[in-house]
Amino acid sequence: MINSTGADILDLIRRRVVLLDGALGTELMKRSGPPPGRCLELINIENPEAVRAVHGEYYDAGADVVSTNSFGGSPLKLATAGLAGRCRELNAAAARLAVSVRPSGRFVAGDIGPTGKFLQPQGEHTEAEFEDGFALQAEGLFEGGVDFILIETMFDLREALCAVRGARRVAASRPVFASLTFNRTKRGFFTLMGDGLEKCARAFEAEGLPAFGANCSLGSGDMADLIAEWKTLTSTPLIAQANAGKPEISGDQVVYAQSVDDYLSEIPRLIRNGAALIGGCCGTSPEYIRRMASLLPAAEGR
Ligand SMILES: [Zn+2]
Repeated sequence: MINSTGADILDLIRRRVVLLDGALGTELMKRSGPPPGRCLELINIENPEAVRAVHGEYYDAGADVVSTNSFGGSPLKLATAGLAGRCRELNAAAARLAVSVRPSGRFVAGDIGPTGKFLQPQGEHTEAEFEDGFALQAEGLFEGGVDFILIETMFDLREALCAVRGARRVAASRPVFASLTFNRTKRGFFTLMGDGLEKCARAFEAEGLPAFGANCSLGSGDMADLIAEWKTLTSTPLIAQANAGKPEISGDQVVYAQSVDDYLSEIPRLIRNGAALIGGCCGTSPEYIRRMASLLPAAEGR
């Protein structure tokens, strides 16, 4: 699957560790203030320069891939801000902004996050409803020119699978990657809905995903432990995007417990344990990604 800059993400994954980007929302708010209408995706229309600037900083830091500003871009999520009718437009705009600053040989991932709603029986929604919504989001993202889809921060394996099917309905030949959010318990790593690493691996393998993984919630040390365990359960390339530790409230701000030095100290172990695509999540910034790039093995093509 070669993109218009001549690069092939699946080939790159086979050759070396792939560097993803870090947090986007917090970086956007540094430049743009609180999101208009409580919706980060509206920034794609109202302050496109801010979005381009953050993507550009991640590419400059050495990221092979940046993810579009469309985490909350499913119709069900947009509906909470009264914007469900603008799903396609906001996602296409998100994609175009990232594509407009993509250097040759790099990639744009169309980012899909959770709806924030629950499937039956815990919630009121059906799998068909979720899948239709994600398909509409993917349509906008591909219209804007993304190279592949990265489904992330999913706390429900079933919802992640709805997103996989929705995205594939739109572009069956494009890679779709999925990343779940796990908590660490005494019994091991589990999603909010109680799915463990083995069950998730089998489900994603059955879908034939070229890569899957974990992001958010865990700091880099816990993430390195998770990857070590998951690696024994699957041969599929694994994605790891850790938070900068646990969020803590300091005054009216959220700060993250891991300093950049502490976060980075676990990255060599994360790679040794088998992570094939690495990047950051909440609390990370272009600085984290720049320093991660310097830790990667100086393999061919970097
Ligand atoms: Zn996160």
